[in-house]
Amino acid sequence: MDFDNPRMCEVFFDIYDALPRAGPGTAESTLRALALADPLPEGALVLDLGCGPGRQTLDLAAALPSAEIVAVDLHRPFLDLLDAEVRRRGLGHRVRTVHGDMSCLSIAEESVDLIWSEGAAYSIGFAKALEAWRPLLRPGGYLAVSEATWLRSARPDEIVAFWQQEYPDMLDVEGCLDLFPRAGYRVIGSFPLPEQAWWQDFYTPMLGRLDELGRRFNGDPVAEAVLDESRREIEVFRRYSAFSGYTFVVARKASGQERVRRKGRAMAREDE
Ligand code: SAH
Repeated sequence: MDFDNPRMCEVFFDIYDALPRAGPGTAESTLRALALADPLPEGALVLDLGCGPGRQTLDLAAALPSAEIVAVDLHRPFLDLLDAEVRRRGLGHRVRTVHGDMSCLSIAEESVDLIWSEGAAYSIGFAKALEAWRPLLRPGGYLAVSEATWLRSARPDEIVAFWQQEYPDMLDVEGCLDLFPRAGYRVIGSFPLPEQAWWQDFYTPMLGRLDELGRRFNGDPVAEAVLDESRREIEVFRRYSAFSGYTFVVARKASGQERVRRKGRAMAREDE
């Protein structure tokens, strides 16, 4: 997929703008991760970064009735969809969308209780996202992120080739979890997203949308190439979902003392 090609982009968003989610996820997984971010203060400030059409934003708003939530995304049409739903649910006084780049947020340091990001942090580099977001968290604040990971070390060639093209930096679960203490967080818990998280609100509606657009763009080679790529992504998932999938990780900003202890241990290892 060539995002520099405007026509390709247009067709890509013709697919995605019609879906309930822009990546894998379910309300159950959101709530399971949220249960790990405990305790949160009354009136917590929550950021949902790369919120997309905002299903998880709304799930968080329902589960945290006193929280203020700021949902950030670069794609305006997703925010318009979320804004409409926020108004419909009467949440406008505490859920706000911001059209902007999650890698450079103008939010006060140490002001945020919980940073949420489902299937989006990789867009700015996963390790870089962990680094960039840590200063925004209050001491003891939480980070909850889902990220694509390898699930097995034996990997068929076809799935290796697919990820080599889509996301060559993808790590295994252990490698992913390892990034957190390095970036100044303590991992509280992690779990894999169930297969259902791809089908329910993402690939099943996407298949319907691809059929619809296939009829509309019949004979248009550029559009058909984009549709084919999405079909292929779904087919790869159908065949190889045992080998790669998303891991949800909930972590807590480590205190200064924990960081010093970790650094000390790392230096001691280097001396050995
Ligand atoms: N969390 C949503 C969307 C995941 S798709 C869901 O699970 O449904 C990734 C989202 O990140 C997209 O909506 C994309 O527009 C957004 N995104 C990518 N790079 C971004 C950036 N630098 N700043 C803000 N949003 C970004």
